[in-house]
Amino acid sequence: MDANDSSMKGEEPVMPERAAERPKWVSSWKLWTLPGRVVGYVLGTEVAALVLAGVLAASQPAKGHDYVRFALLLGLGLLAAESTRRVEQLRRQLSDTPHVNMSSVWILAVTLLTTPSLGAAAAVVLYAHFWWRTWRYIASVPAYRAVFNAAMMALSAFAADAVAHWFPANDVLDITKPEHLIAPVLVIGVFWLVNSVLVAVVIWLSQGEAGWSRLLGCWSDNALEVSTLCMGVLTASLVAWRPWMVVLVLPPLYVLHRSVLIKQLEHAATTDRKTGLLNATSWHSLADRELAKAARHSSPSAVLMIDLDHFKRVNDTYGHLVGDEVLRKVADTIRQQVRRHDLCGRFGGEEFVVFMPDTGRDDAVRIAERLRAAVHAIPADEKMPRVSVSIGVGTYPELGHNLEDVLLAADNALFGAKNQGRDRVVSEAAAR
Ligand code: GH3
Ligand code: MG
Ligand code: MG
Repeated sequence: MDANDSSMKGEEPVMPERAAERPKWVSSWKLWTLPGRVVGYVLGTEVAALVLAGVLAASQPAKGHDYVRFALLLGLGLLAAESTRRVEQLRRQLSDTPHVNMSSVWILAVTLLTTPSLGAAAAVVLYAHFWWRTWRYIASVPAYRAVFNAAMMALSAFAADAVAHWFPANDVLDITKPEHLIAPVLVIGVFWLVNSVLVAVVIWLSQGEAGWSRLLGCWSDNALEVSTLCMGVLTASLVAWRPWMVVLVLPPLYVLHRSVLIKQLEHAATTDRKTGLLNATSWHSLADRELAKAARHSSPSAVLMIDLDHFKRVNDTYGHLVGDEVLRKVADTIRQQVRRHDLCGRFGGEEFVVFMPDTGRDDAVRIAERLRAAVHAIPADEKMPRVSVSIGVGTYPELGHNLEDVLLAADNALFGAKNQGRDRVVSEAAAR
C-alpha cells in the first residue's frame, strides 16, 4: 500500500496534465509545499531506508545467483507493470485513498529469494518505472511520492526479511509440514503491518485527525495488499523450485489488478466525489429498493431533506474552497449522526438527503434534531464559519406510498423550516 498525494493533502485528485508543464528540479518539488512535519517524516523515512540498505548490503552481500534471480523477477515485474499501465493510470485518477499496487509481489519475492538490499533495489526500479511511465502524466502524483513510496516498500521488505531470518534457512519457502506455514504468514503480516503503519503516519501528519478507515485504507484495499504479498511468497517459491513456472503468475496478477479498477469505477459512479456520500442517482435507486422492502414488511421509513442555511453567504464571504470544506464537514457530521445502514446522499449543491429504514416519525424528528445540533457544534474559527441547517422530515407510509411522495413531503417540510426562520426541523405534519 502507498500514500497518494490527495490523502497527504486532503485535496481532490485532478485530471491529467501535460508532462511538459511539470516542475523539473528538486528545488521546485511539490514536497517543499507540505507542512514541515510531513517533510521531516518523508525525508526521515527515505534516509532510514538508504542507511539500512547500505548496512544490509554490507552484512548480507549478494552472490552471483542472487543477481540472476533478481534480474528474472525484476524483468517480470516490469513486464507486469507495462501490461497494466493503462489500468494503473485510470486507478490513480479515480483513487483518493491509500493506494495498493502490485509491486509488493516482486519486492517481497526478491527479498525472500536474494537479499534485502536487492529487494530495496527492486522497489526503486519498479517505482521509478511507475513514475516514468504512468504517474508523471497525472497531476496529483508528483515525483517525491515515487521516492517516498519506494522507501516505505524497502523498509517493509527489511522488516519482512528480519522475520524470515528467525526461521532456519529455507523455512519460509520450503513448507513440508502444516506448522511451517507460520513462517510465511508472519513474513506477510510484518510486511503488511510496517507498510500500513508508515502510510497511516504520513496521512495522520498531513491531515491531523483522520478516521481509522482513512488512515489504514478500507478492508478491500488491505485484502488486496495481503493477496499481493501471498502472491509474492508463491512467486518466490516457484522461482526457487521451477523458475520458468513463474510466468504463470502474470495472468492472475493482471486479472487481480483489473478487478480492482472495476471496483473503483463502480465506487466513482455511485459516489459524490466532494463529500463521499451517495450521488443523487445511486441514492434514488437504493432508497427505492429500501422502500419496497419496507412495504413488504409493513415497516415505517423516513426521509430527511437537509439544506444549509444562507450557504451562498459562506461562499461570498469566505470563498468557494472554504464552502467546499464546510460541505465536507456537514457530510461527515450527517454520516456520524445516523446508523450505518441509513442511506446518506448529496442531492446537489448544499442539499443532502437521508433515507432511514425502520424509523417512525417521532424517531426521525429526534434524529433530525440531534443532527441539526451536531452541525451547529462543528468547530468554527476565523477561517471557518459556524453553519446551520434546516431539515424537513418526510415519513412513509403516512404521506405517500412511493419515494417521490415521501420526498415531496420532506421538501415541503424543508420549505416550511426555511419560511419559519431556518435552523430548525419541521416534520411533514407540522408543515401543513
Ligand atoms: P437558503 O438558506 O435559503 O438555503 O440560502 P442559500 O444561500 O443556502 O441557498 P441558495 O440556493 O441561494 O444558494 C446555494 C449556494 O450553494 C449557491 C452556490 O454557489 C452554492 N453551492 C452549490 N454547490 C456548491 C459546491 O459544490 N461548493 C460550494 N462551495 N458552493 C456550492
Ligand atoms: Mg441553502
Ligand atoms: Mg438549496
